[in-house]
Amino acid sequence: TTATTGATPAPVPAAPAPGNAGLTRRWQGSLMDNYGTPRVPITHGEGARLWDADGREYLDFVGGIAVNSLGTAHPAVVRAVSGQIATLGHVSNLFVAEPPVALAERLLRIFGRTGRVYFSNSGAEAVEAAFKIGRRTGRTHMVATEGGFHGRTMGALALTGQPAKRDPFLPLPGEVTHVPYGDAGALRAAVTEETALVIVEPIQGENGVVVAPEGYLAAAREITAATGTLLVIDEVQTGIGRTGHWLACQAQGVRPDVVTLAKGLGAGLPIGATVAFGEAAELLGPGHHGSTFGGNPVSCAAALAVLDTIASEGLLGHVERIGGRLRDGVRALGHPLVDHVRGAGLLLGIVLTEPVAPQVQQAAQDAGFLVNACAPDVIRLAPPLIIGEAEADALVRSLPAVLDAAGGPRRAGD
Ligand code: PMP
Repeated sequence: TTATTGATPAPVPAAPAPGNAGLTRRWQGSLMDNYGTPRVPITHGEGARLWDADGREYLDFVGGIAVNSLGTAHPAVVRAVSGQIATLGHVSNLFVAEPPVALAERLLRIFGRTGRVYFSNSGAEAVEAAFKIGRRTGRTHMVATEGGFHGRTMGALALTGQPAKRDPFLPLPGEVTHVPYGDAGALRAAVTEETALVIVEPIQGENGVVVAPEGYLAAAREITAATGTLLVIDEVQTGIGRTGHWLACQAQGVRPDVVTLAKGLGAGLPIGATVAFGEAAELLGPGHHGSTFGGNPVSCAAALAVLDTIASEGLLGHVERIGGRLRDGVRALGHPLVDHVRGAGLLLGIVLTEPVAPQVQQAAQDAGFLVNACAPDVIRLAPPLIIGEAEADALVRSLPAVLDAAGGPRRAGD
């Protein structure tokens, strides 16, 4: 017999069963169950609204986990993707096409630096390429942060600092030191002239929207510059407008050697980008790395539409305004279950006074709002960047009842 931990896959039904119950039954018999939480069956959406298979409408404050930067079915993305797939869907890296070149040029122009871009299909792959750039320095030691998240492939997982995700897969590629996040002294002590790279997120999104203290990224820059170590800033979650800036590190005046991007860059199309600046851009040469799908014209066309739309609709300022409104609105509720709100732009963490985030997520869903319990006591909000005032206000207005429902009856004496 084969070793399995879940239910035996069900035979594929002849005709799809209707509604939420039908789709749930089918995914339980067909998809690998790696996520462990109930999944809401979603059929379609428009902007920041999504509908489930029973026809219920939700306001989307998850955004595909910071991916659907322009919401669902944005006309600019639909136009770009359908035009590109009708013209040239894929050529492989034996050839070259306009969209990846235009996208690389545009990213470098936005970041205001010279460099080179390697395109892949996901955040983990963007990090894998950064890992290989690090190895090409001739050094092997790397430094990452406790609680950090860089993806689930083996190299990215070696840099990820979350034991629950690492432990089932040990041994991982070695020589990685994890230091406490936000502690410049610990970083300074760990980095030597043998260190190939330091990788750090401006905000640890997966770890509960933990924000680096002011000056931390600048300290990382100074420490790595002194030892000739590459500074890799993982902006897979924070980049491309999420915090109200093209890059979160740019807003702090920090110039890394390598930036990793994915998620919101493609507005739902799979794309990862490893952007290397200056000398770091020359470390991967012919034969060192590759990906069949990387630089796919359709994904790149979607990304170009994202960059165009962010610029033409002034979304960076919009994100700062709406993010501030959402943050201030939640704070002003003064609800006893809310300890504080942290984050930047439209990547916010509502930190609860009790570990009831899964219950809050469920109560919010029952009330028509999709939010994400990304830690036992943290609700993450990462809505589409195009979300409007009325939609943000609707969530804030509903939160007291949602939190009351999730917190349950107060214990005596509370
Ligand atoms: N780095 C960061 C900072 C991330 O937040 C994520 C995804 N949550 C990844 C890397 C991995 O991206 P992907 O899931 O696309 O592989």
